[in-house]
Amino acid sequence: MTTIDPLRATCPAPRAETERVLLGHGSGGRLMAELLAEVIAPELDTPGPLEDAAVVGLGDTDVVFSTDGFVVTPRFFPGGDIGSLAVYGTVNDLAMRGARPVALSLAYLLEEGFPMAELRAITASVAEAARACGIPVVTGDTKVVGRGAADGVYLTTTGIGVRLPDAWPSASAGVPGDVVLVSGPIGAHGTAILSAREDLGFETAITSDSRPLHGLVAAMIGAGGADVHTLRDATRGGLASALNELAEASRVGVEIIEADVPVPAQVASACELLGLDPLHVANEGCLVAFVAPRSADAVLAAMRDDPAGREARVIGHVTGDPGRVTARTLVGASRIVDMLVGEQLPRIC
Ligand code: MG
Repeated sequence: MTTIDPLRATCPAPRAETERVLLGHGSGGRLMAELLAEVIAPELDTPGPLEDAAVVGLGDTDVVFSTDGFVVTPRFFPGGDIGSLAVYGTVNDLAMRGARPVALSLAYLLEEGFPMAELRAITASVAEAARACGIPVVTGDTKVVGRGAADGVYLTTTGIGVRLPDAWPSASAGVPGDVVLVSGPIGAHGTAILSAREDLGFETAITSDSRPLHGLVAAMIGAGGADVHTLRDATRGGLASALNELAEASRVGVEIIEADVPVPAQVASACELLGLDPLHVANEGCLVAFVAPRSADAVLAAMRDDPAGREARVIGHVTGDPGRVTARTLVGASRIVDMLVGEQLPRIC
């Protein structure tokens, strides 16, 4: 007879059947990282680290490949709309791997009853953004679900690009001593969406920073080449989450100087009112870069010559303290800069 000692029996911990997807799983912060690491990546055998876009070797060419869904609400907001955002979001993810974007696909998921006039307006915005970037939409899909099964319209774009010469940026390529650069002021997109959604009545509307960054990246690569180690657009989860992801992927630390992080006065006061940390607020036209010190001045100068990088600046440096992101505060103390943990603002992009 066999008896089982319950204290010695081992079996895999059961996956709780009561677990459900939370809004916070889409936040771009810690919960989303856990969802990817525990539920999605293991099933798909995804090779790490998680990048903005994948590089797929096809013969002699490295093709850069990325996809993104867009569910932002409201669909039209100060500084942009879901159509242009869907173009820029994917263009920017391609650019973060040093790619020249080449072509896009566009898929619509439409709810029955959606006004045709709004569909036309959104499509016109997609077309205008794609033309402005010089990147054609070459394929796509349309699906319609019943009333109530979706909220109006969701878009998905997929993009392909080819690497620029001498461009090798990767989330895992940061090294201690690298200079940390940011391309412009942070926090505008998240606060613009929030104020549009909640009608917070700020005196002047905050405008989203939604814009394409591939021209800026080409200028940076032109100035620094392979010394541009790491690029990330600080979207959901904000600058803090982007820095933490890069620190983790590169097994390095980051120290930023809080006073050097550009936060527009309006964003700062909106964040204060709403109890948000600007470092956690989403951006749609702002990147962070780790650049070898010998090329940092040249890359910074090239950024400032580009319309998308006029206000670029150095905000800190990469350290040898793996996974640790800290900020030197105004009074000279050091504080931990953590990833966004739960949900700050659903459907931000
Ligand atoms: Mg990205």
